[in-house]
Amino acid sequence: MVNIRWLGHAAFVIELDNEIFLIDPWITNPLSPYKSIDSFIKDYPRIHYIVVTHDHGDHVGETIELLKRYKDARICAVFELAEYLASEAKAIDRSIPGNIGGPIKLSELTTLVFTPAYHSSSRGAPSGIILLSRDFSIYHAGDTGLFSEMVLISELYRPLVALLPIGGYFTMGLKEAIKAIELLKPQYVIPMHYNTFDVIKADPTELQKMVKDRGLSTTVIIFQPGETYNFK
Ligand code: ZN
Repeated sequence: MVNIRWLGHAAFVIELDNEIFLIDPWITNPLSPYKSIDSFIKDYPRIHYIVVTHDHGDHVGETIELLKRYKDARICAVFELAEYLASEAKAIDRSIPGNIGGPIKLSELTTLVFTPAYHSSSRGAPSGIILLSRDFSIYHAGDTGLFSEMVLISELYRPLVALLPIGGYFTMGLKEAIKAIELLKPQYVIPMHYNTFDVIKADPTELQKMVKDRGLSTTVIIFQPGETYNFK
């Protein structure tokens, strides 16, 4: 059983194989149901992994504070970023520094792969994330423009669920996201990285229409911030 919860922007809580992954934890983003770290910790007494796609503030979010509070959470990111965040949180022994394209076996069941992202980042390369378990595959694209290697991501990892930015300006907009869906062929798409700020306003129902018009078999699930979806 897999639960995916959107906290607004690019922040997700993913429960996979009884482990809890917190992705791009800007917990207190303007759309988030949480206004403080304390209220988040009340709901989630334990987090196993914090995964950060790149070093922009709206993705690193409250990572350092969370690493200090969750004493056994581990930090996964591209090498330079993981080492920086872990050292700031005095948690260097909990760093899992990776790099693009290298599968990291986190446990018997779960593997993490950093994927390329067309974006920028001052510490380490910007990335997306694939989370794989025995019969489940999730792709969090991070902040990225469209790129043709999504075909390889589809071929190698067959994501059942793809979390794709649609807000434009810094990342893909709708026109690029529909092409990404054609390349990735996921069963489900969850739009993210939109409506947090004025410059990334987008209407996710437009993406649903585009998928229908093109006769694609993907289902676009529009989350309200704070909403959870359960995938069997
Ligand atoms: Zn960014």
